[in-house]
Amino acid sequence: MLADPYSSDVRLFMMTLDIDQEKRTELKVRSRMEHDGMTGLLNRETFIARVSRILKNSTPPKRHALIMLDIDEFKKHNDQYGHPYGDQVIRETARFIKGFLRKTDLCGRMGGDEFMVFLNDISSEEEMIPRIDMFCQILKHPDGENGEITCSLGVVFYPRDGRTFQELYQKADTALYDVKRTGRGNYRIYSPDLKRKGEEEPGAF
Ligand code: GH3
Ligand code: MG
Repeated sequence: MLADPYSSDVRLFMMTLDIDQEKRTELKVRSRMEHDGMTGLLNRETFIARVSRILKNSTPPKRHALIMLDIDEFKKHNDQYGHPYGDQVIRETARFIKGFLRKTDLCGRMGGDEFMVFLNDISSEEEMIPRIDMFCQILKHPDGENGEITCSLGVVFYPRDGRTFQELYQKADTALYDVKRTGRGNYRIYSPDLKRKGEEEPGAF
């Protein structure tokens, strides 16, 4: 603000800079870095970072569930109907997952046909079981002319099965492996007596 030396007026000079477009571009770039281009879900790195941050700020009695989810026999669908069809199955699966989530849950595509879901702040493990069972049914859908697409789910709970992402991930993988090993299209809640990947079948040699 400057006083005009020849009158009693006060002159006001203003400069405004429109950064709207710049900000929009910045947000778009950041969103592209954090999401998987094919499904719009969080990418692996961002999902791990966000879940790890929530876990770090959580203390019992807070409870969460982590689900590792993998499409069954996906290679077969790819080989039979082609890669673009496979891509469509991945996008459809992502859409079903999004439909199941609450606003505070997180979901990421971990790569290929593998996804993870983080159910934030659940009431109890027992109450989640019917919901996870329903989730497993929701993921089943018809596949072209023959059969259906199904997914296998490995489920772990914070803090019961672990407190860090790494611990929970490893156990979810063990639970998922058990579903794959015993017939697919189902879910398994982790328990310490499950066989880990690479462990020999009884009687195998
Ligand atoms: P399983 O039931 O044991 O999971 O068997 P699977 O055939 O699903 O085996 P796996 O999960 O290892 O197969 C993943 C396949 O997904 C391998 C790869 O060719 C394919 N794939 C990975 N990324 C993409 C993608 O972006 N698009 C398509 N169409 N296929 C992909
Ligand atoms: Mg698979």
